[in-house]
Amino acid sequence: MPIDVARARRETPGCAHVAHFNNAGAALMPQSVLDAMRDHLDREARLGGYEAHDAARDAVEQAYDAVAALLHAHRDEIALVENATRAWDMAFYGLPLTEGDRILTTPASYASNYIAFLQRTRRTGARVEVVATDEAGQIDLDALRNALDDRVKLIALTHVPTNGGLVNPAAAVGQIARDAGIPYLLDACQSAGQLPLDVGVLGADMLSGTSRKFLRGPRGVGFLYVRRDFLDRLDPPLLDLHAATWTAPDQYELRPDARRFETWETNVAARIAFGVAVDYALSWGIDAIWARVQPLAETLRERLRTLPGVHVRDLGRIRCGIVTFHTDAVEAAVLQQRLRAGDINVSVATPRSTLLDAEGRQLPDLVRASVHYYNTEDEIDHLCTALADIV
Ligand SMILES: *Cc1c(COP(=O)(O)O)cnc(C)c1O
Repeated sequence: MPIDVARARRETPGCAHVAHFNNAGAALMPQSVLDAMRDHLDREARLGGYEAHDAARDAVEQAYDAVAALLHAHRDEIALVENATRAWDMAFYGLPLTEGDRILTTPASYASNYIAFLQRTRRTGARVEVVATDEAGQIDLDALRNALDDRVKLIALTHVPTNGGLVNPAAAVGQIARDAGIPYLLDACQSAGQLPLDVGVLGADMLSGTSRKFLRGPRGVGFLYVRRDFLDRLDPPLLDLHAATWTAPDQYELRPDARRFETWETNVAARIAFGVAVDYALSWGIDAIWARVQPLAETLRERLRTLPGVHVRDLGRIRCGIVTFHTDAVEAAVLQQRLRAGDINVSVATPRSTLLDAEGRQLPDLVRASVHYYNTEDEIDHLCTALADIV
């Protein structure tokens, strides 16, 4: 079923106010998500925070079922945390590494992940190595295969980078990792909510994502998937009385499920609302969302290419809803401000968020216009007309 765009827009209060092309930053929340969050805040105010939590247990638990359904995983493989970075960290810092071990990754790596690689390689004497990309800009699968040996202790892939339309061949990488018996950590922060994710197909042992981007949930929630039989390969880098039970004065026991990566205190309203957001995405169908996002982004790229002095910089054989470009005439940050003054939201991708890729391709600051299924051809027209005026 194709997306009923008119209904999607009616159900999204922000659509009446802005042309929102910052879905890779934080997408607009649907009304139902906003309502779920407000309802729980009201419950907290009326009943008390703990009592409200007791009254909303089912809604909180539903969030785990929703994420499990999104990923085709089991609910006990899901942890809910503050953001995608902490989700990824809880897996990465929990993986044992020693001197001489190798981590393989790609130039599309997100800064926070790469900073963590650098910190841990300094601590442990392990090395991080960047696998070459092919002519389309995606990870080169032959180069990856050739780089494997028994010192490789992790393959860490960014599925969709923060700075462009590239979609890395995550399932093919998963197959290579599985064949070689190497742990595979997938950063699905920008892919979750815009394209189908099935952890079985992807072959991911660990996968991280966030609420506020293409999943359209509230800010301040992220999720981690860890495959059941991989759970005990990780030693959670931090524990509390929710992640573990203090069983004797000198002993504790880890929880049996992925919630060992969580903490006890949390924003319950945001968690509930996140569950509603994931169910909302599933009610449209991720396939239907992907079938709309991809051509919409292609339309935007084609329009941008017709504008003189505008350079589209997206890589990839398969491209997603993130569109990036720069112009000869005006800096990205200035463009962003000028567009915002006209109620058009875009963001700026600076080299600091993806340093390896930015240096490799000598990228300046890029304007990032990321589309979602509720965006329209009219809005794209509006954006391109405004851009043409400014440049
Ligand atoms: C945004 C982003 C992250 C970090 O997500 P947070 O929820 O902000 O922690 C990680 N990886 C990629 C590719 C991102 O775009």
